[in-house]
Amino acid sequence: MLISLIVPCYNEEASLPILYDALCDVRKSESSDDKCFEFIFVNDGSRDKTAEIIRGLAENDKSVKYVFFSRNFGKEAAMYAGMQKAKGDYVAILDADMQDPPSLLPQMIKDLDSGECDIVAARRVTRKGEPKIRSFFARTFYRLINRMCDIEIADGARDFRLMKREVVDAILSLSERQRFSKGIFAWVGFRTKWVEHENVERVAGETKWSFWKLFKYAIDGIVAFTTAPLRLATYAGFFFALLGFIYLIYYFIRAIVLTIYNDVPGYPSLLCFILFIGGLILMCLGILGEYIGRTYIESKGRPIYIPSEESKD
Ligand code: UDP
Ligand code: MG
Repeated sequence: MLISLIVPCYNEEASLPILYDALCDVRKSESSDDKCFEFIFVNDGSRDKTAEIIRGLAENDKSVKYVFFSRNFGKEAAMYAGMQKAKGDYVAILDADMQDPPSLLPQMIKDLDSGECDIVAARRVTRKGEPKIRSFFARTFYRLINRMCDIEIADGARDFRLMKREVVDAILSLSERQRFSKGIFAWVGFRTKWVEHENVERVAGETKWSFWKLFKYAIDGIVAFTTAPLRLATYAGFFFALLGFIYLIYYFIRAIVLTIYNDVPGYPSLLCFILFIGGLILMCLGILGEYIGRTYIESKGRPIYIPSEESKD
């Protein structure tokens, strides 16, 4: 049985050697007559020495495979490319920075072997060492997306998981371009077992996710998995139309029945309403735009990534 370990790498020259050693340890302890490993490194257009390091590893180690991208396509694309290349019966994805502890792998393999689940996924129960504000926004995002979507996306779930072949094939069959893997993993279903671990800080280098990048990722996630925001626009529109109607009736009764007339023309309230409704319309247009934009991008049917170099099988 073959086990594929996929590592997306973007400017990871400092962490790669450390990770490779850790992976070799796992291989040493887990390899047996009927279990062997392949390591798949996906170089996501790194600008440092990542490429050289990977080539070096592949020269000395037959089980190291790689795909290089022609530019930075993002971690989602890197994971997809890795899964396409993986031939294993079990496939795992882990970060290059050791934040997904390879030491969990032996237990994960055992869990899959036992046959009681199809996916073993890691989840961090703490966000220790992460900026407070980032944790806050992350939590809010999970609350929001879980309320809006039919699928359940666990807070703290990482992309780190070991999957059976069927699961990988299911994920590959979703060939959408704007990928939000956390949602895709949940969407394909299968029996998932969670292993929990403390947050680990990256061994070297720095995070590639700025706040802005994460924010865009969050919008991607919501737009990719639910059309609830569109409904939100409908509800809001309905609510304000109703409000307007009640307002109208109120003034009508006041004028006809109670014969009270406004002697000051109500321009402040008018201004408020125009501004408010104007803002609302713009917001609805924005929401529509998000979806139309996605449709446009998907309709072009571009590939998810462009490889520039690949290891021979
Ligand atoms: N990564 C990638 N392409 C990118 C950004 C990140 O392949 O455009 C990889 C990165 O090399 C690492 C993993 O994705 O292996 C997670 O990235 P990072 O540690 O920067 O994210 P964080 O752990 O801070 O969320
Ligand atoms: Mg990291």
